[in-house]
Amino acid sequence: MSSQRAADAWQVKAACRGPQAAVFFPPAYVERKDQKEEREARAKAICATCPVRQPCLDYAIQIREPHGIWGGLNEAERRQFLPGS
Ligand code: SF4
Repeated sequence: MSSQRAADAWQVKAACRGPQAAVFFPPAYVERKDQKEEREARAKAICATCPVRQPCLDYAIQIREPHGIWGGLNEAERRQFLPGS
């Protein structure tokens, strides 16, 4: 396995693969605060069962992913792990 493939291997074990992936990112319309919180809670509940939560979170922080739930955290929650924050 190449180092790139090894780095991406966690993605095949992601608990969010499939139709439920839609709750991990904002919809095309403007969400109310309560809708966002409810959607994020559903996504985070899936993350809580995910076997690759840590590599997922590490990846999102590494690439400074600006949107969505990754590794059980939303974009604002991930900001605390960025250098200089
Ligand atoms: S931690 Fe959450 S966002 Fe990351 S792969 Fe697992 S289910 Fe998907």
